[in-house]
Amino acid sequence: MSMQRIVIIGAGIASLTAAEALRQNGFSGTITILGEENMLPYQRPPLSKAYLTSDELPSPTPIRSPKFFRDNKVELKQGVKVIALDRPGKQVVIQGGRRVEYDTLILATGARPRPIDLPGESSKNVFYLRKLDHSTTLRNALSAPECEKVAILGAGVIGLEVASAANLLGKQVTVFEANSRAMCRVASPLTTNFVTNRMASAGVSFCFNACVNEILSEENRVSGIRLSDGTTKPADLVVIGIGAVPNAELAEDANLNCDGGILVDSNMCSSDPDIFAIGDCAKAVNLSSNTPIRIETIHNAMLQAQIAAAHICGNPSPPLSPPRFWSDLDGMKVQCVGIATGYDRIQERPTESDNAREFWIFSGDRMIAAETVNLPTRQSKLSEALSESRPD
Ligand code: FAD
Repeated sequence: MSMQRIVIIGAGIASLTAAEALRQNGFSGTITILGEENMLPYQRPPLSKAYLTSDELPSPTPIRSPKFFRDNKVELKQGVKVIALDRPGKQVVIQGGRRVEYDTLILATGARPRPIDLPGESSKNVFYLRKLDHSTTLRNALSAPECEKVAILGAGVIGLEVASAANLLGKQVTVFEANSRAMCRVASPLTTNFVTNRMASAGVSFCFNACVNEILSEENRVSGIRLSDGTTKPADLVVIGIGAVPNAELAEDANLNCDGGILVDSNMCSSDPDIFAIGDCAKAVNLSSNTPIRIETIHNAMLQAQIAAAHICGNPSPPLSPPRFWSDLDGMKVQCVGIATGYDRIQERPTESDNAREFWIFSGDRMIAAETVNLPTRQSKLSEALSESRPD
């Protein structure tokens, strides 16, 4: 194999899956992972779920053990931030000026929380959630006795998960959402309405069509929020969950094709044949979308990593499957497969429990997505059904 040195920027699930898949595909050269976080790479999903509600400060869940790196001869460099790509020289530049040479480069830089541009955003007790230390400080603030009222800005998956956790901790939680319903980018109204109705019965308040235009503070500490109609709501803590932006600046500065994410082909190859991009930072086609989109899920990060690794090693692509994700909300397991946009019909399927739901989502005769609540064993079957329902 001609490329002997593979460098991966970022040390999350996409990066580690790529390293593992490269070895499984027979790559025998060096693999170096450069990650800016100064710890063993950890799973992000627990950060907005069990991590926030556990009695004792939990340990992060490692994606792979130290043994994995030894056994697979993968060099993990922690606390190393890459600040530039030198494409003509085939090197990456690390903060401090040191350079690392590559034959093939994989960008797995992930995403970061979308910042909100509001007065008061920098007040104490305003939180974003992406990394372990975000989750730790949020958890500590939530458990403080003086924290009674929690305002969540954004009813996306992260916003609802934090709302659910804070409610479980006995806080008075209100979710403010500019749209008319929750999770409108990722799930159909039947699923989201079922979920938010259940959460409302459990005590979470929802304000839809609500535009927050100021975070209020007293002595630089959050005291509430102001809506665009002038009404104010008290809050001791504010969590902002209005989406994420891709960490694509390295690629943009190096003149790779980018458009709200690093544009890659179906092999995850960027506009430079020696540079690949995978996971939350990449914008690609997938089984449910012929136009490139960015998907922020574990399934997507792992699948794209496996596709890139196979291609780099000259092997056939792994079997493709439609995008999917899960969320844990107020004791409900919500799972979605496919992408619920452009549909014209939703069919509810009978289930045996009042706590469970299954929806099939169609465009014409074709099933394009399926969503379940509390039916964890259904997702694989529904994923297969969706793949079979694709036009040839
Ligand atoms: P990341 O995990 O973001 O990893 C990228 C890494 O690259 C980061 O460590 C970053 O610090 C590093 N990096 C960036 N730039 C540089 C640089 N210049 N130099 C060096 N290192 C750099 N998905 C689900 O499917 N189900 C869930 O329930 C779920 N829950 C979630 C809960 C939370 C709180 C969050 C934040 C995400 C959740 N997700 C969930 C989404 C999922 O975790 C992401 O899609 C996944 O982590 C993306 O992996 P990644 O490797 O692409 O990026």
